[in-house]
Amino acid sequence: MRWNEITYSGWGRALQATGEVARPERVHGLTAAAPVPAFGNRRSYGDACTNDGGRAIDMTRLDRVLSFDAETGLVEAEAGMPIGELARLFAPLGWMPTVMPGTGFATIGGCIAMDVHGKNHHIDGSFGAHVTAIKMIVAGKPKTVTPKNKTLFRATVGGLGQTGMILSATLQMKRCEGTGMEVTEQRAENWDEHIALLASSTAPYTVGWLDATAKGRKLGRGIIEEAVSTAVEPQSSPKGASKSVPFNFPRFTLSKAMVSGFNKAYYLRIRDGGQTRIKPLEEFFFPLDKIHNWNRLYGKNGFHQFQCVLPDASLDALKAMVEKIAKSGLASPLAVLKRLGPDASGMMSFPMQGYTLAVDFRESPKARRLIAELNADTLKAGGRIYFAKDSLATAEQAKAMYPDWATWAAEANKADPEHALETDMTRRLGLRSV
Ligand SMILES: Cc1cc2nc3c(=O)[nH]c(=O)nc-3n(C[C@H](O)[C@H](O)[C@H](O)COP(=O)(O)OP(=O)(O)OC[C@H]3O[C@@H](n4cnc5c(N)ncnc54)[C@H](O)[C@@H]3O)c2cc1C
Repeated sequence: MRWNEITYSGWGRALQATGEVARPERVHGLTAAAPVPAFGNRRSYGDACTNDGGRAIDMTRLDRVLSFDAETGLVEAEAGMPIGELARLFAPLGWMPTVMPGTGFATIGGCIAMDVHGKNHHIDGSFGAHVTAIKMIVAGKPKTVTPKNKTLFRATVGGLGQTGMILSATLQMKRCEGTGMEVTEQRAENWDEHIALLASSTAPYTVGWLDATAKGRKLGRGIIEEAVSTAVEPQSSPKGASKSVPFNFPRFTLSKAMVSGFNKAYYLRIRDGGQTRIKPLEEFFFPLDKIHNWNRLYGKNGFHQFQCVLPDASLDALKAMVEKIAKSGLASPLAVLKRLGPDASGMMSFPMQGYTLAVDFRESPKARRLIAELNADTLKAGGRIYFAKDSLATAEQAKAMYPDWATWAAEANKADPEHALETDMTRRLGLRSV
């Protein structure tokens, strides 16, 4: 295997790492090599996918479909396959991945290691609930892990890559009508209306965009999107319209005035009574993927995403957090509110029954202080933050938020006794130290 020293980061770019990285084209050789952490397309924001000073394997060339059963919708693909590519390949045949996060660039390995959730979590649960087998290297040996290997499976799904390198996985896809989505958008004028619309939605896919700059009577206003798969052909092709952000944008690009002006215009674009359109599947599921390198909009120092989930009983605490964010004047236009269902497939899985809030902040000392407060608020309200987005939580907070972490750590330490798979995140949060 060829190793190259590079400096790299997660999607947020606020934390950097330097180390040797290999990008193999075949799994052959990975079994014999000394264990090192793996990463996919580095769409996790913080340091979950970095190993500063050590080695890492970039899995993105291992992106082949290995088998597909058109009757059952079971597909086996290599770990580096982007989930959006699976959707593009199979939606015309009437199947799509059951769970897809907000970016199609997330790889199957990354989706398992973070047990990602989609806009249908309240109905279909998280990614791991639809994985029927994982081929991986555990303690230097190839192993197929299925839900029947209960402990190892539950430690691997959402397990931050700490139980072994994932080589491929078999997924149960779900039926779809075609490549189009019928999307209905409607405005919510304030927090109570926003929550009521999310809570009462019966659509298979539901998500809320939040104007995180709106205050007072407008606090919590936003747009609720509900969607269902349709056989009607979408009008536009997403491929032709791809754009790229060519350089790091200067600070004023996301100034307070610009963000609140943009948010107001974005909110008002939806007419009274709502609107329904047929969108290409990618445009609904992965709205930001069309703009390559959009993370450069935050400038060269990068950004953080704060994402928490709070139980239903803590809705008032969530509202208070949204108020704190609005008052800070630091939020970017990217803010999302979603309802999550009960299931969590893994010991370290993020989802819990309640509401999840995700907001982007340009990196700054003020933003870090605000996120530190929001992390503390989350813990106090009985919620948890999402490791796929985190770069600022403390070890004490992370362990208190994830009640199964000690059981998980014992399992990870059994699978990786040398701690060779540790990443910057597991070290920062002391997650493997039981
Ligand atoms: C625009 C955007 C929208 C997003 N929306 C959502 C969302 O709606 N829901 C959601 O849940 N997440 C969301 N995410 C987060 C993203 O889905 C996760 O961070 C996912 O893990 C990224 O996949 P990746 O392949 O880039 O993994 P990476 O970021 O490269 O790695 C993530 C973790 O997986 C491990 N890993 C990766 N591959 C392997 C492997 N082969 N074997 C073992 N371990 C491995 C890494 O070590 C690391 O711990 C979003 C991210 C972005 C940028």
